[in-house]
Amino acid sequence: MESINPKVVELLDKLTYLELIESRRAESKNHEETEEYRFTNLGRMIALLFYCHSIKTLDKSTAETVYNQIQNHYKSLDNSHSTMCIIFLHNCWHNKELSSILDYMIKLLLDASSDKYEFLHKIRFLNMVFIHKRIWKIFEVSLEYLSIQSHLAYELFLFHLKLYIEDIMVSKCRKLKDYETIRLKKSQDLDTVVLEGYCSDCEDFSILSMETIKYLGEYIRSYESNRNFSYVSCPKCNIQYLNFEQVVDSQSPLQHFDNRVWNENQHLEKTLVKKLFNSNGNEYTKKSMQYQWIIHFLDQADQYHKITAIQD
Ligand SMILES: [Zn+2]
Repeated sequence: MESINPKVVELLDKLTYLELIESRRAESKNHEETEEYRFTNLGRMIALLFYCHSIKTLDKSTAETVYNQIQNHYKSLDNSHSTMCIIFLHNCWHNKELSSILDYMIKLLLDASSDKYEFLHKIRFLNMVFIHKRIWKIFEVSLEYLSIQSHLAYELFLFHLKLYIEDIMVSKCRKLKDYETIRLKKSQDLDTVVLEGYCSDCEDFSILSMETIKYLGEYIRSYESNRNFSYVSCPKCNIQYLNFEQVVDSQSPLQHFDNRVWNENQHLEKTLVKKLFNSNGNEYTKKSMQYQWIIHFLDQADQYHKITAIQD
């Protein structure tokens, strides 16, 4: 039995609340009531991600363990998004791009919202659209494979993507009346998004629809080459190209997709180490203690741990 002070119990409660560990009631040898804890599938995945970044060089067998745990996590979710995720991660692994995805996931965790559902949502609906030509290619190939493997999952995945992008558009839309009319008209076209574009000549907005994958591909290409999204001309003047990003006072409409691939691993490592061992004077911060506990739990991932609260 491990004895533990109330502060750690509080942290364990937090990890339980975040669904990273699960607890059950148990009785100790001297018939005291205790709690036992163990990792959930998600918790094990996150712990392994932290572990990966706490070691200097990632050896092949650790990389494989992490990869398999991530795959297990998405397999257990069993929905259209997770089905796509499994294919995508598999292709990233075989094309040696997995480390970029791992870095992104670690960053998500480090910047995690204190809102449980927001945090869990970002992990469950892992974003696969990266501003990166090779990873985008992997996304396209994976989507094609998904359409062959399960046409229903493919349609559901595209439907999610459509609704997601259109919700962002609605929140920034200047011509909502036109937008909602065309949105309804195109609501059955699962592979199509309705967009609002800006013409700098007319100084006006127009609504049009486009194939979702074509839009995202152009979005990434224009972002990478630092040019405007520029092959759709304005329906009003027919001269100027429409702009979908950084329109007037608005920033890029797809901020969620603005995933940078981290080239400077060092920067990330520094941040992680800082957060892991952050202290206020003599005491570790709550967040750093959480991270340390996650790593501590990793050693005996499958077992329940008996923990009793004692006073310090
Ligand atoms: Zn125009």
